[in-house]
Amino acid sequence: MKRLTACIFFLLTGFISFAQSPVPRPKLVVGIVVDQMRWDFLYRYSDRYGSDGLNRMLREGFSCENTFINYIPTYTAAGHASVYTGSTPSLNGIMGNNWYSKELGRLVYCTEDAGVQTVGSPSAAGKMSPKNLWSNTITDELRLAQNFRNKTIAIALKDRGAILPGGHTANAAYWFDNATGGWITSTHYLQELPEWVRKFNDRRLPDSFMQRGWNTLYPIDSYKQSTRDANAFEGKLLEEDNTFPHQTEAISANARYDAFRHTPYGNTLTFELAKAAVEGEGLGRNGTTDFLAVSFSTPDYIGHTFGPNSIEVEDTYLRFDREMASFLKFLDNRVGKGQYTVFLTADHGVAHVPGFLKEHKLPGGTIDDSKFRRELNDSLNKYFGLQNAISNLINHQLYFNDSVIARSKVPEPEIRRYIIRHLMKVPSIMKVIDLAPLSDVVLPDPLKQMVVNGYNQKLSGDILFLFKPQWFEGWNTGTTHGVWAPYDAHIPNVWFGWGVKQGKTNRVVHMADIAPTLAAMLRIQMPNATIGKVIEEVMK
Ligand code: ZN
Ligand code: ZN
Repeated sequence: MKRLTACIFFLLTGFISFAQSPVPRPKLVVGIVVDQMRWDFLYRYSDRYGSDGLNRMLREGFSCENTFINYIPTYTAAGHASVYTGSTPSLNGIMGNNWYSKELGRLVYCTEDAGVQTVGSPSAAGKMSPKNLWSNTITDELRLAQNFRNKTIAIALKDRGAILPGGHTANAAYWFDNATGGWITSTHYLQELPEWVRKFNDRRLPDSFMQRGWNTLYPIDSYKQSTRDANAFEGKLLEEDNTFPHQTEAISANARYDAFRHTPYGNTLTFELAKAAVEGEGLGRNGTTDFLAVSFSTPDYIGHTFGPNSIEVEDTYLRFDREMASFLKFLDNRVGKGQYTVFLTADHGVAHVPGFLKEHKLPGGTIDDSKFRRELNDSLNKYFGLQNAISNLINHQLYFNDSVIARSKVPEPEIRRYIIRHLMKVPSIMKVIDLAPLSDVVLPDPLKQMVVNGYNQKLSGDILFLFKPQWFEGWNTGTTHGVWAPYDAHIPNVWFGWGVKQGKTNRVVHMADIAPTLAAMLRIQMPNATIGKVIEEVMK
């Protein structure tokens, strides 16, 4: 009898201890997207990175050195959506920052939502939600997996940089409002700002940052990785000249907060709100696995304006690295060393500034896309008598005016052939793709994949063109991204903390692999449009 009791006792305690050991997971996942961070920026300035920021992540964590975006166009919204859905525009519905809707006869913004209201400001900047995102995200799946007992908080100066990573079920996404200089959200998430956000906004940090001006962290002569300051192909901070020290204190009140986004203090403010969110929401202390999704929009604003070879960009990354170091230290103290998992990636890279390339005898340039569309429409008018046959040109795609084409006596295939011939005569275009019979397209394999993954039968245009490398639609100063080339498509992908092995791989992996890898690590279902694959090497 005693033995039987003991046996039952052991069985019970064994059962209880089994029931009490939950699936091993970190206390917090921190997803970091650095807007416009090209992969080589991990190394380009690393001699002046400290040992506790990016270098710590590379030293202690795992880096997938050859991570590519596997669709076009390589824009911000599509990038954030792909990272968090493990998918591509063809399946998640986010095919650019904007796309043209033939049905509505206008451009649609990726996170627009007329059905919700701004929370935290009288401005309209909060009429946003993830409504246009067709699939769910890794952040949604983590909430589903824990029956919504955990929290997701998403933060970025750009609305789309916060909303898409937060998924449909984020407890809140916060973005920056140019009208008030504070953080806002929408009624999709909350009816009013929580107290910790209101208190944060009341500190008016952007005002004090702008009063400081922006000078280089080190003596300006020591910026050996960058072109001389103040050249003709650099853009300007609003109302300001393009030389250091940038007199941000002189920028007038109505332009102040837009200009603020273009200073490294935009990153500082984002880091500060991320820390405040960890404190205010008790992230990592809820007895579940919480998710903090942070996107740093500022490097993109600065990169567009000054170009990747500018002192402004170099200085921004040197400062970012310092702030990253203190953020990791903060997480060590608050959540616990080894108790949280971080991944750091980018939504896309960036092209060189054409003027800079010209100076160094490198090929590249810009074309004026509105002029380009006008010429094409004029030519269609001249040859076929068609009025405004092309409704829009966006994301390198031409959208036909279907009713004009339907009324025409010329058969549509003939019009298509004419347009393709016309586009192929443009010197900067190297390939024109008729999106109707996409399967016939002859392209090198990775490029074909990018076209297929970026093609959305419901939302895409009729004809797509690809520029030669280093060409884009643009202007004389600054630069952009959006194409298939490695400078836009090769991104960092660094993992750190709980569950992550130490090391690196040079095997080619993709942006869409990040979400399924995290799903495998957390032992949860992958997002519902995932086509990416688990990066086995990352995991312990
Ligand atoms: Zn971006
Ligand atoms: Zn950009």
